[in-house]
Amino acid sequence: MKVTVIIAAAGSGRRMKADRPKQLFLLDKTPILIHTIRKFESCKIVDNIIVAAPRESVEEVRTLVNDAGFSKAILVIQGGDRRQDSVSIALQHLQSDVTVIAVHDAVRPFVSMEEIETVISKADKDGAAILAIPVVDTVKQVTRNIIDATLAREHLVLAQTPQAFRVEILREAFERARKDEYYGTDESSLVERLGRPVSIVRGSERNIKITRPTDLVLARVLFEEEQVSK
Ligand code: C5P
Repeated sequence: MKVTVIIAAAGSGRRMKADRPKQLFLLDKTPILIHTIRKFESCKIVDNIIVAAPRESVEEVRTLVNDAGFSKAILVIQGGDRRQDSVSIALQHLQSDVTVIAVHDAVRPFVSMEEIETVISKADKDGAAILAIPVVDTVKQVTRNIIDATLAREHLVLAQTPQAFRVEILREAFERARKDEYYGTDESSLVERLGRPVSIVRGSERNIKITRPTDLVLARVLFEEEQVSK
């Protein structure tokens, strides 16, 4: 197995109401993106890493990565307009002998090494696997603020990342999406469209996606907790 991790870090951070991308916000004096890369750098089964950076921050991200002094090969490329474009561009930079790809959100720095290794191993075996957690709230489907339906919670999970795939499956999924002009919010949805099974690996409530301003408050707490448990 040869594993490349693609870190999607090319978002602009509009929902954070900030003029800087949220993956470059500091957590204990270090950008969130660098915390995230560290998790993968520490995983033995990860061979190399591709980071898709925002157009206006490619050089800044290259400098940050160089200064962090990682020992694995980390390629920083310019991402695209949408997350799917960023991952698609990253896929063009794969080495020919890679067998498994894991895609991860730059803004999920609290993923654990065990989660990373479990989801990658599962994808190597089954073809496709993602981290997900059960839904604890009751979820309603609505149209213009009126409820259409209450969804059966036992059939719902919240998708997280990493999402991992054998390389030929992910390539086929991206090719099909391109032909159909389909845009999804994660890689799994592209593979599901092929009719292929995607396995679920239990993720964690700690693996939050830092998206809105309140997530940063929680991120500081989770970071402190992580330092204490080290
Ligand atoms: O926009 P969303 O919350 O789905 O972003 C999830 C991840 O995808 C973030 O880490 C973000 O930086 C990344 N992204 C990207 N390229 C884009 C948009 C988002 O790599 N064009």
